Amino acid sequence: MSAVIPIQRDAADKGCADAPVLRERGQREVFCGLTGIIWMHRKIQDAFFLVVGSRTCAHLIQSAAGVMIFAEPRFGTAIIDERDLAGIADANEELDRVVRQLLSRRPDIKMLFLVGSCPSEVIKLDLSRAAARLSREYLNQVRILNYSGSGIETTFTQGEDACLASLVPELPPSESDAPSLMVVGCLPDVVEDQFARLFTAMGLEGVQFFPPRSSRSLPSVGKNTRFLLAQPFLGETARALTERGATHLVAPFPFGVEGTTEWLRTAAHSAGIPAERFAQATQVSRERAQRALERHRERLQGKRIFFFPDSQLEIPLARFLSRELGMHLTEVGTPYLHREHLKHELALLPSNTVLSEGQDVEKQLDRCRAQAPDLVVCGLGLANPLEAEGLTTKWAIELVFSPVHGYEQSADLAELFARPLLRREKLSTRTSQEAVCS
Ligand code: SF4
Repeated sequence: MSAVIPIQRDAADKGCADAPVLRERGQREVFCGLTGIIWMHRKIQDAFFLVVGSRTCAHLIQSAAGVMIFAEPRFGTAIIDERDLAGIADANEELDRVVRQLLSRRPDIKMLFLVGSCPSEVIKLDLSRAAARLSREYLNQVRILNYSGSGIETTFTQGEDACLASLVPELPPSESDAPSLMVVGCLPDVVEDQFARLFTAMGLEGVQFFPPRSSRSLPSVGKNTRFLLAQPFLGETARALTERGATHLVAPFPFGVEGTTEWLRTAAHSAGIPAERFAQATQVSRERAQRALERHRERLQGKRIFFFPDSQLEIPLARFLSRELGMHLTEVGTPYLHREHLKHELALLPSNTVLSEGQDVEKQLDRCRAQAPDLVVCGLGLANPLEAEGLTTKWAIELVFSPVHGYEQSADLAELFARPLLRREKLSTRTSQEAVCS
């Protein structure tokens, strides 16, 4: 049996733990928090997300969801129109009417999220009061909650944080004193099942996942609960769980072989699982993932990458690309830097990494052009112009939509970065062949 290789680092090397951060507060280019509905509606299967917003909001989630709008939808928009904006119609009465229509047509809905938007904030529609009012009406039938996905307040991954934080007060109190583990953050079912199998193999029984697949199986929480974040953007949810008495196990995030191993090891360690048992339980998956990464390392090694702030996954992904695939980090931008949640990740970054928080997009574009990286990770709005300038880009949003956590997905995650470089190579080869022919 091979031992689990501990993190390779000089004890005196603190990586970027104390590194200075360039803080910018200018114009930014990101999607709003409504975007999270696209992956969350697939997770909680008896929930419905009702955006209280404009036609723009409706178009955003419909176009982001693509063909999903033709399936039985688990999201929709209550349109705020000119009459609501002008104060002619009573927006609360309109909203109550839409909710009644929806719930009478869809008795399968057991949890309803009223999702705030820029327009609902502009007209100061109090969705928490609306949720409380409607909850009284639908007591014992439908749980009605609210959160904001407004672009005024959120980046696109904060929608999930706001949604899960709104759900924490609904979690039943834990009735047992026995320690229990909760994994927090939306994971595709297939990834959740892989982690559940690994926890069982280690001897960790009864691990709960939040959010659950059904609103009727909400995990319990209490002083005995320890939780691991599966996503780095869940600051509010972590705070709400801590207020319910739970303990946060801070760990590297489960991206790549190293991150997944350290994340699982943190869980095993907190439960007193012997190191041998942990090594045995993870060995096959770990070694298979290491082998699968090799072919991508050949393509990515030595390539220079620049991250614009977008998904809040940037720092863990930069750690994975730098340490497991040999990429060189030119700048790693993140919308928000939660130092406590990311302390292990920061310590694993090369100490000379340029870190930035927030955005002043024109200044950052200048820095990016000056660096001329091989690959730029950015939002959709920046990708096309940068491609036109000859830079190779990767859409950050794809990293949130795709299954990327855990051992089995490590090579897929690497491939997401390798593919644009391959595409660019093929394009250059074709262009030079055409030049020779002409
Ligand atoms: Fe646009 Fe705001 Fe609606 Fe998002 S919430 S789609 S930023 S109007």
